[in-house]
Formats: sequence, C-alpha cells, structure tokens
Amino acid sequence: MKGLRVKPGTKVSLDDYDPADTGRYRSAEEAADKLREHLDELDRLQNLLYAEGRRALLIVLQGMDASGKDGTIRHVMSGLNPQGVTVTPFKVPNDEERAHDYLWRVHKVTPRYGQIAIFNRSHYEDVLAVRVHDLVPRKVWKNRYKQINFFERILTENEVVILKFFLHISRDEQKRRLEERLRDPKRHWKFSQKDVEERRHWAAYRKAYEDALSECSSKRAPWYVVPADHKWYRNLVVAETIVEVLRGLDLKYPEPAEDLSQIVID
Ligand code: ATP
Ligand code: MG
Repeated sequence: MKGLRVKPGTKVSLDDYDPADTGRYRSAEEAADKLREHLDELDRLQNLLYAEGRRALLIVLQGMDASGKDGTIRHVMSGLNPQGVTVTPFKVPNDEERAHDYLWRVHKVTPRYGQIAIFNRSHYEDVLAVRVHDLVPRKVWKNRYKQINFFERILTENEVVILKFFLHISRDEQKRRLEERLRDPKRHWKFSQKDVEERRHWAAYRKAYEDALSECSSKRAPWYVVPADHKWYRNLVVAETIVEVLRGLDLKYPEPAEDLSQIVID
C-alpha cells in the first residue's frame, strides 16, 4: 500500500499507476474478510477519536465522474457513528460562495475536534475544473497550489489530520459505468449529460490531476492514488489507509476529570 502514497516533491505520472490493480488479492471474495476487519477497526478508532476530542480527521475524495466517490463514502464509512462524521459535497460554487475567496466555503466545513469530515470533491476543484475550463487566468490557478499547501499546513499544525484520495479509474471503466447508468433505470438519476461533456476533457483533467498530486502531496497531508477500477479493491485500500493513519495517532481515552472510584450511585 505504501507505493500508493505520493512522495512529497515527486512528479506524478498517472501512467505509473494501474487503475485495475488489485494488489495481492484476486477477487472481492478473497478480500472480504480483510475489509470487514478494517471496518471493525475503523469503528473502534473513530470511537477513540471522538472520545479524545483533541484531533480531527479530514478525508478528501477526488476523481473523475463515476470514479466512485459516493460509493466509497457509502461502503467505507457505513459502520461509523453518524454523530462523529460530516460529509460535504462541493458543487459548482453558488452566488454567495463565488462572492468570497475560494477557500471560504472549505474552511467552514473542516472537522471539529473529535470528528471525521469527508469532502466529496474539495478545494482541489479550484485547480481542476477551474483550470480545465479556464475559469480563471493561468497565473491565478497556478498560484493556488502554494496557497492550498499553506491552507492545509494551517490545518495539520492545528491537529487536523488530512488524507487525500485520488480514485484512479481508466477511461474504459468510466465509459462502462456511464453506459450502465444509461441502461439501468435504477441508475438513471445518476446520469448527467454533463458527465459526457466532461469526459471529452479527459486528457486535460488527467494533466491537471497529475499536477495537483505532484504539487500538493506533503508529509502531513499526503495524496494517495487509489486503483479504482475494481470497487472492492478501492474500498479496501481506502479503509486500510484510514485505519493505518488513525492507528499511528496513538489515540487514547481521556483520563476522567475526577476520581471515579470514590463515586457511589445511589
Ligand atoms: P453526483 O454526480 O454523483 O451527484 P458530483 O460531485 O459529480 O456528484 P455534480 O453536481 O454532478 O456532482 O458535479 C459537481 C460539479 O461541480 C463537478 O463537475 C465539479 O467539477 C464542479 N465544481 C466543483 N467545485 C467547483 C469549483 N470550485 N469551480 C467550478 N466547478 C466546480
Ligand atoms: Mg456528477
């Protein structure tokens, strides 16, 4: 799994990452026990994070349309205590958001201490969609990599742990998934003509992603490239990475404020 973490300061070429990789597993069945184990562990660790209440976890999910951002949230976060989790989707900015700097809407929804916040898309759209569609001059989006690194540094220095996942699917797999949305009446609501238009910009998005991953992977806020053609493997990688990172925090239940051994319940 280590190989998936983008080493700070390295130039990412997505050609080096196979979207169909399944590591040492050959099937969803083979990986099922491991995933179950991770999800149980995640539940335990979230409880500790919540009880400790001193640190927070921010999970950023990015990826092309149909790369599985929604599915990852549904499968990996399903076992968590809802009181400790927030999920925020970042859509095209509304009027009020557009009337502020691009990080305004982001900082407002970072996690409280003790909580996990999941971003379904994020401030990275401001160097992805914005760049691909020329919504601001080149000079402006180029400067944002540095700003994003500063912003994330402010968070990590204030006990907000950041994990960023790029769900890496192949162009063929995206085609398959979009076609499935057209075929299956239960998925029609997921289909959007916009996805077909965005798909035409595949190469530009890929380049924009490579630059975002290269410019903004830091030790305290790393990017992970997640092979996402196989949903079960994607879930496994994301769950395992979160578990590893939370374990590394050495979370502890807080000491009781008073000597509980003296208390009598009558
Ligand atoms: P789903 O389709 O599953 O509901 P989604 O995240 O694709 O989820 P959409 O409403 O289809 O939601 O798309 C959101 C769109 O908003 C994306 O195309 C994204 O690139 C765009 N977007 C997000 N943030 C910005 C931004 N800051 N500037 C411009 N476009 C943005
Ligand atoms: Mg969409």
